Amino acid sequence: LAKQHGRNTFEFYNASANAQSLRRLNIENHLRHGLARNEFSLAYQPQVDLASGRIIGAEALLRWMPAIGPIGPDEFIPIAENSGLIVEIGEWVMRTACRDFMAAPLHERKLLLAINLSARQFKKTTLVDSVRGILAETGFPAERLELEITESMLVEHFEKTVKQMQELKNLGIRLAIDDFGTGFSSLSYLKRFPMDTLKIDKSFVADIYDNQNDACIVRSIIGLGHGLNLKVQAEGVETAQQLELLQLHQCDRGQGYFFHKPLPIDEFRRLFV
Ligand code: C2E
Ligand code: MG
Ligand code: MG
Ligand code: MG
Repeated sequence: LAKQHGRNTFEFYNASANAQSLRRLNIENHLRHGLARNEFSLAYQPQVDLASGRIIGAEALLRWMPAIGPIGPDEFIPIAENSGLIVEIGEWVMRTACRDFMAAPLHERKLLLAINLSARQFKKTTLVDSVRGILAETGFPAERLELEITESMLVEHFEKTVKQMQELKNLGIRLAIDDFGTGFSSLSYLKRFPMDTLKIDKSFVADIYDNQNDACIVRSIIGLGHGLNLKVQAEGVETAQQLELLQLHQCDRGQGYFFHKPLPIDEFRRLFV
């Protein structure tokens, strides 16, 4: 019986692994046409200065509406990365967001624009040229562009990444570490990177109010960031209590459902008219 059972289990896993890879393949095929078919859009999530409560910028978050129904970034971005499609899609994200921020009424607000970068984009030697080109083409000021990268990217491609980050800094842009605290980077990496902002991962912020350990981690990250002369930003702020603690510990900026969800461009614009 055990043997029979084992066999069925094996076939079951096999079948579901197959379904998984078929789904990925299907998504990849649709992704290939996503740009041409105009299926992408951006949602903008406001970033708030915690001392004044004012919106100082926003993070552009990619959305995709293919014919097969909406698929979230956590599912399609890894597929876009593995297939290399993220390079072209990432350029579209940056160009579109810079254009949006150069148009009224956002233009006058001098907002910071945060954009996520994938490791795959860093592997391309054309990244710096492409960023420079988009800034020139749209007129968006480099000092208001903040590129977000994750810790794992720092660890995986250290030398090449540092060099490109230095070149990006030379353009005048800002660099942020996203999801900080989840990527096992050693602190010695941090001091070698020309960073401007640490974004505390939302998993630490979630229980900051009831979990002593999380509260301690968040406090330490804020202290570390300030010690290194960086701005510290909390992700995933959902409650007034979380906000209160973050303010108490002098966290600089916050982002989360408590303030605003990621908004379609029209709704985001309406915050400023
Ligand atoms: P991320 O850069 O860490 O973005 C923050 C994620 O947290 C977003 O998920 C956002 O919608 C979500 N979020 C914001 N506030 C809250 C909150 O209060 N509570 C909770 N639970 N979640 C909140 P989203 O939009 O699904 O994006 C997921 C990830 O996909 C992003 O994580 C980023 O790594 C990646 N991504 C999104 N757009 C792009 C892009 O244009 N390029 C690249 N390379 N990656 C992107
Ligand atoms: Mg991000
Ligand atoms: Mg994050
Ligand atoms: Mg993330």
